[in-house]
Amino acid sequence: MIYLDNAATTRPEESVVRVMEESLRDEYGNPSSVYRAGAAARSLVDRSRDAVARLAGALSDEIYFTSGGSEADNWALTAAYEASGNPHAHIITTAIEHHAVLRTCDYLKKRGAELTILEPDSEGRISAESVERAIRPETVLISVMTANNEIGTIEPVGEIGDVARRHGILFHTDAVQAFGHIPVDVRKMNIDMMSVSAHKFGGPKGVGMLFIRRGVRIGSFIRGGAQERGRRAGTENVPGIAGFGEAAGLACSGMEKYASEEKELRDYGIGLIHSLIPDAEINGDLTERLPGNISVTIPGMDGALAVMMMDRRGIAVSSGSACSSGSTDPSHVMKAIGRSDRQALGTVRISLSHHNTREEIETAVKILADVADTLR
Ligand SMILES: *Cc1c(COP(=O)(O)O)cnc(C)c1O
Repeated sequence: MIYLDNAATTRPEESVVRVMEESLRDEYGNPSSVYRAGAAARSLVDRSRDAVARLAGALSDEIYFTSGGSEADNWALTAAYEASGNPHAHIITTAIEHHAVLRTCDYLKKRGAELTILEPDSEGRISAESVERAIRPETVLISVMTANNEIGTIEPVGEIGDVARRHGILFHTDAVQAFGHIPVDVRKMNIDMMSVSAHKFGGPKGVGMLFIRRGVRIGSFIRGGAQERGRRAGTENVPGIAGFGEAAGLACSGMEKYASEEKELRDYGIGLIHSLIPDAEINGDLTERLPGNISVTIPGMDGALAVMMMDRRGIAVSSGSACSSGSTDPSHVMKAIGRSDRQALGTVRISLSHHNTREEIETAVKILADVADTLR
């Protein structure tokens, strides 16, 4: 199989599997226990926290481990709303966020929150000016993703962070697609809260984190024990956290190299698509773009069928996002950038990693061209 769906999830790196196996087998003490077995697990969790913090430009005690990106998004939005004490507090977000953000906004709206959902331009960019224009006296939170999971566009998060800071409004970013792939620095970018997931950059599934800047006053999302400094109860997922820390360490030292390898593969793939499928259109910003993302619309082709036919020929790609695959609804992201239902449904996402080769990209694009011919 040629795996080209790395925006849905990545294969864990070898060393990630190794540290997880070791911790599962040997470090089985409860990190909250005072005896040695507990201390060993505790120190593994602490080291992972340090590695994740370093990659984020954060302090270790600003990292709160969660069950993944979805939990972190739910927590950040819900807790910021509740901390405001105003049932009609105003939240600014965008039409291209992950459903973990958008569905939480729907929920908060039912509780009385006011929402502004910003529309991106035709390449998926959200401008800092549009964010600033949406600010009201009751605005308590701005949530804009660092990079989009479907079309790969990278948002001007640093500029948006400056706007939020100037107005004294909390700024949250869903950095799940960006973290470990491109540099993200919570201090330079004035980020107050940031959601991350381990399995999108070589770590395991079911673990992630919410960065909460020191001094930001929001409550807990899971109540119970005193884990995560009282802010996220539940015995730690020690093997998962160990794997997360290992993946963060690898990204810390290898990101630049991996990103340049991915970019080269990506641009090679885009070039090949243009030559083999001349009427294909690449979605998203061509320069401010995740290194591994190719989102392509082929007019008159059914993307979901194309994915199935490619799977039969050993290629794993996705139509739209994994969460909406299986449903035939056109992607909300494609709609937000102004594409028709037909265009949205004719879209395939190829998301690659530094493990892929030029030969794999060539094979996949040739098969895509072939499948497009058959389907049209
Ligand atoms: C995958 C993803 C999530 C959800 O993360 P999980 O760890 O799978 O819950 C949230 N936001 C974005 C942008 C994602 O790509």
